[in-house]
Amino acid sequence: MKKMLIAGNWKMNMTPSESINLVQSIIDGTKDKKISCDILVCPPFTSIDSVSRTVKGTNILYGAQNCHFESKGAYTGEISIPMLKELGCKYIIIGHSERRTYFFENDELINKKVKAVLGAGINLILCIGETLREREENRTFEVLKRQIEIGLNRVQPEQCIQIVIAYEPVWAIGTGISAEPEQIQEVHSFIKTELVRVLGKRASSIIVLYGGSVTDENAKSILELEDVHGGLIGGASLKTDIFLSIVDTAISILEK
Ligand code: PEP
Repeated sequence: MKKMLIAGNWKMNMTPSESINLVQSIIDGTKDKKISCDILVCPPFTSIDSVSRTVKGTNILYGAQNCHFESKGAYTGEISIPMLKELGCKYIIIGHSERRTYFFENDELINKKVKAVLGAGINLILCIGETLREREENRTFEVLKRQIEIGLNRVQPEQCIQIVIAYEPVWAIGTGISAEPEQIQEVHSFIKTELVRVLGKRASSIIVLYGGSVTDENAKSILELEDVHGGLIGGASLKTDIFLSIVDTAISILEK
């Protein structure tokens, strides 16, 4: 049976009190429904504690958008995995393109974080994706191959159950221009093959999300693709109605 994860990346939005309101509206909108997909919200660090208290007793999962690979030490301004673990985070997003671009995170640094997250027993959403230039130069598959090979270097096959991949073409993030369904299916199929090549057959259970300008309008055509197992939703995850409509779409696809 198909599994589906709908994950909201709130980015640098929402104060703690705003976060409580947003997550409460998601709880209210889902509480009378049979929710067959997983729902995850990733607020900023400063809101994780408030969100954790608000979702207590519900099925809404919460996680973080980044972490440091060391468990403690002199790294001013950074947040460690044990700190997030103690707050009950179930997932950590690693390698988002905004971190790669604005904070110069390369595949080697991302691999250190990947190994640290997995070693701590937390689930990982590893973001990969090509820039517009790389796509135009026909380098999409080469870039994804490198991001997978280096990003997952020295990951153990038994850790596959903790891994989620998010394919996020950089040119589709926050632009309102989503990739076309054919492009998405082609890339997801390639990613799944690469994961098995790098990690062995246990990797066939790794789910691959699509991210990049997903809205209530295009969610159906994306989520119903064979190798798409959910979405990483940025801007639309801040608008309860749209986020809930994407969740409803996922549920109706799973019920088919
Ligand atoms: C994201 O931040 O991961 C993302 C996909 O953003 P958006 O949905 O706004 O394109």
